[in-house]
Amino acid sequence: MEGTVLRIERISPDDGNGLRTVIFLKGCPLRCAWCSTPESHESEPEWYYMQSKCRYCGYCVKACGQNALSVSEDGSAIIRNKEKCINCFRCADACITKAIDVFGKKMTVDEVMKEINKDRLFYFCSNGGITLSGGDVLLQADFAGELLKECRENVINTSAELDMFGDYEKVKKIIPFLNSYFVDLKHMDPEEHIIWTGLSNRTILANIIRAGEEYPNTPMNARVPLIPGVNDSKKNITATAEFCRKVKSCRSLEFLPYHRLGTAKYKYLGIGYQFEHVKPLSEEETEERIRCLNGMDLPFPVKISGKVIQK
Ligand code: SF4
Ligand code: SF4
Repeated sequence: MEGTVLRIERISPDDGNGLRTVIFLKGCPLRCAWCSTPESHESEPEWYYMQSKCRYCGYCVKACGQNALSVSEDGSAIIRNKEKCINCFRCADACITKAIDVFGKKMTVDEVMKEINKDRLFYFCSNGGITLSGGDVLLQADFAGELLKECRENVINTSAELDMFGDYEKVKKIIPFLNSYFVDLKHMDPEEHIIWTGLSNRTILANIIRAGEEYPNTPMNARVPLIPGVNDSKKNITATAEFCRKVKSCRSLEFLPYHRLGTAKYKYLGIGYQFEHVKPLSEEETEERIRCLNGMDLPFPVKISGKVIQK
């Protein structure tokens, strides 16, 4: 079976126990306005252009059989006509400097397993394993499920970052093969969720509750990307904690301050980024926002970027 893999990151300490190999899958139904991985949005491999690496040699223009590439009028950039482009990526093969390249590639389960097996020593030394991330893993539920099953048969610890949007049947293809998982909670208000992500949160929340009931012994760790002016109000933070209290499998609630590390990738893809000028919260501001959870007597620890602030 074949899936579309965005990239594989090795020896990550942040996405589960120990050192992890993180396999990012491509494709996401949500469009979070602050997203730091816009290159994961589309399901198929995607063309991009990094102007700073371009030598203006013109090899890409010559390689394109569709006449889809040209040099800009001032000679400072390569322009792609999206209507003419058929995504054959011959231009990327022709580009020596990798100024034109591709986000994502098709890989079989066996090919991904070969990459995973290179890191097995790290898993055994650190109690680590693999984590599937996205994009949204559920969008490639069959591929993800088969990959996770293969890992479990090879006694490799498995985790995943899930958005939980989609048919619950897809959730059932994945969670039985996980040792633990993370869910991203963007906003508790359905209308606000639509404004900031493009879709309602009703299916997401229902799936999380149901998964907690059907798999209570598979630990779920809730994560909230804390975005200034979007979801950092006292009302939303307390509502998020109250929701997590209802999820039988919830073992922690973690807040991750917004960052702007993905800004350059919006430029490479030629799309706008409305959060480019939003200032991230400082550590003190983040702690101040979370203070409203004091006294709620939550049955799980509250964290900020991995650091426990409430037991
Ligand atoms: S082949 Fe690469 S370096 Fe040469 S003009 Fe095209 S994008 Fe620039
Ligand atoms: S991907 Fe193919 S069609 Fe598109 S610009 Fe490159 S060479 Fe031309």
